[in-house]
Amino acid sequence: MTTENKRIGIFGGSFNPIHMGHVNVLTTVRSRMNLEKIYVLPAAQNPLKPATEGPSDEQRLEMLRRGLDEFPFLEVDDREIRRGGVSYTVDTIESFAKTNAPEDLYLIVGLDAFEEFDKWKNFERILTLANLIVVTRPNHSLPFGEGDLPEGLRPLVAAFDRQYVALTTGRSIEFVRLNDLDISATDVRKRLRSNRNVDRHLSIKVEEYIREQGIFAPLGPRIGDYEAFTRFCAQALWDKKAINVRGFDLRNTESATEFTLIASGTSTRHATSLADAVQRAVKEEFNVLPQSVEGAGEGRWVLLDYGALIVHVFYDFVRQEYRLEDLWKTGRDLGLREEIPAKAT
Ligand code: ATP
Repeated sequence: MTTENKRIGIFGGSFNPIHMGHVNVLTTVRSRMNLEKIYVLPAAQNPLKPATEGPSDEQRLEMLRRGLDEFPFLEVDDREIRRGGVSYTVDTIESFAKTNAPEDLYLIVGLDAFEEFDKWKNFERILTLANLIVVTRPNHSLPFGEGDLPEGLRPLVAAFDRQYVALTTGRSIEFVRLNDLDISATDVRKRLRSNRNVDRHLSIKVEEYIREQGIFAPLGPRIGDYEAFTRFCAQALWDKKAINVRGFDLRNTESATEFTLIASGTSTRHATSLADAVQRAVKEEFNVLPQSVEGAGEGRWVLLDYGALIVHVFYDFVRQEYRLEDLWKTGRDLGLREEIPAKAT
């Protein structure tokens, strides 16, 4: 049942952290689309993803509150975090639909998210209960014709007119061109971890909170000597029977990272368990989680980012395809050797 006849925006994301790109979306959309209010909803951390260094849910919420408190038309809403588990937008829209009519609900997404929209759970249901506002994002193009829309959406198109798509569900998709800000949370995290300037990226209040809480602080001081750390990770790999473990010091090369470690498992499962073993050993010894983990689900190539050390764990068969060591030839081979404990006599 509709309690108010007002146009409401819904903007979800990981907000890890909230940045000026998000603020630009919110302020522009609110004025262009004449929205009364926009709810900003941080998604719960996906419990199926590997744990990485970063803010807690409470810290992400607090960054949002501080970053948005000067805008009275914005409301930070913690329902996805309270719900826990994987946050599906359809569940969130269903909950807003209990109190808001579909014609008044506007889900706001960036073009990058829109390109994948037909992979979202129950996207047709979303487009029945809410309209969509799509904002531009650098390096992503607005659709010129119906054929540029994500494939799954095409059957829902009733009429297409560049800025406005009428849908057979009765809802619409509208495109809003922003004064694009080329900012992403991934880049902001990297900048903070390497002590680079973020004046253009974050509001002062958010930056202050991040520094005060030590979120996204460089890992260096906790890890200390990175060459010793590389050797430590190599040993954790050998302990789980990794093969062909090699390490390189890349400090005198063009590479963005200082050290790299590469190892293989004899199957994708073995590779995954090797990567898990490194994460466990490092957590235990240094109380540090990786800044990011990629490829853990498939186990063909798992990448652990520890800042100045990147660990690549391959399924050996896949490793042959990429030959990463060729890229590191100009670095110094650490000549890693497994330390076999001396046998007691
Ligand atoms: P990450 O770099 O970690 O993927 P992100 O910067 O894309 O993060 P999210 O919290 O994932 O931030 O994004 C939430 C929503 O904001 C998404 O719909 C995304 O498309 C949109 N968005 C993020 N940054 C921008 C930007 N600079 N311009 C326009 N839209 C943006």
